[in-house]
Amino acid sequence: MKYYKEDSIVFYNGDFVKATDLKVDSYSQTLHYGNGVFEGIRAYNTDYGTKIFKSYEHYKRLKFGASVMDIPFNYSEEELTEITYELLRKNNLKDAYIRPLIFTGASMGLASSEESSLIIQCWEWGKLMGDQLLRIKTSKYERPNPKSCFVEAKVTGHYVNSILSRNDAKKDGYDEALLLDMNGNVAECSGANVFMQKDDKLYTPPRGHIMAGITRDTVIDLCREEGISVEEKHFTLEELKSADSCFFTGTAAEVVGLASLDEYSFPLQWERSLGFRLMHIYKDLVLHKRQPAMKAI
Ligand code: PMP
Repeated sequence: MKYYKEDSIVFYNGDFVKATDLKVDSYSQTLHYGNGVFEGIRAYNTDYGTKIFKSYEHYKRLKFGASVMDIPFNYSEEELTEITYELLRKNNLKDAYIRPLIFTGASMGLASSEESSLIIQCWEWGKLMGDQLLRIKTSKYERPNPKSCFVEAKVTGHYVNSILSRNDAKKDGYDEALLLDMNGNVAECSGANVFMQKDDKLYTPPRGHIMAGITRDTVIDLCREEGISVEEKHFTLEELKSADSCFFTGTAAEVVGLASLDEYSFPLQWERSLGFRLMHIYKDLVLHKRQPAMKAI
């Protein structure tokens, strides 16, 4: 897929420029050592115009990443949101995936670079993992040890782990990978969080070894509003292989159901699961179709 056209515009260090005119420094530390931070955000075409979903939360996480990685960055969440709306207008995009990236200046050493650049790009992108139920594989790769990096920061270099696990699953004919944490508990997918349903209750791994997904938080909030029982709790692969149903959550993937994990098929029909219900409620929320009156008190 090509992400930009001849007339696509990106935001680059204070200016709106043509994507095809962009030149970046090949000595950037980010390119060589993976010390950059990024976000994945979606904007939706709603009846009230284009709305970026949880822009503040995404930009807050971007700023958190820059700060823990010692990358200088001074934009506020509000400024970034305004710039992003402007960028969408300039690209004539109503439904879009938005990719901000902070990358560092030239530095072939390992000391943090004192320079950084901000680029924001956007393009039309359907549901990342599609609409079909996914067949997933337990990965031979683990999620990184939280003592080795900031697992809650979206650092470019961390995604080598995601790429390895996803490629490995694909080579074996599966759609996606499920990664365990260093203690052998279920952690998450290569680019999404995981929920399992057992006996009308949902479980999702607690924060600590996973990306603190904004979609995950949103789904937990929606469960509370809908009176769906949800608990943040560690669970093992064996427990997951006795679950009734399972789904992934993420900005790019939204809410997507799973057909099977390794040899185990989730027995509950997807259309009858809590995940299916939440998939629709989530879509209504991002499209501003969810009426407050519909929420449980
Ligand atoms: N886990 C990983 C590893 C991810 O990369 C993502 C995508 N940011 C998620 C979970 C889901 O996070 P969010 O809901 O904030 O997109």
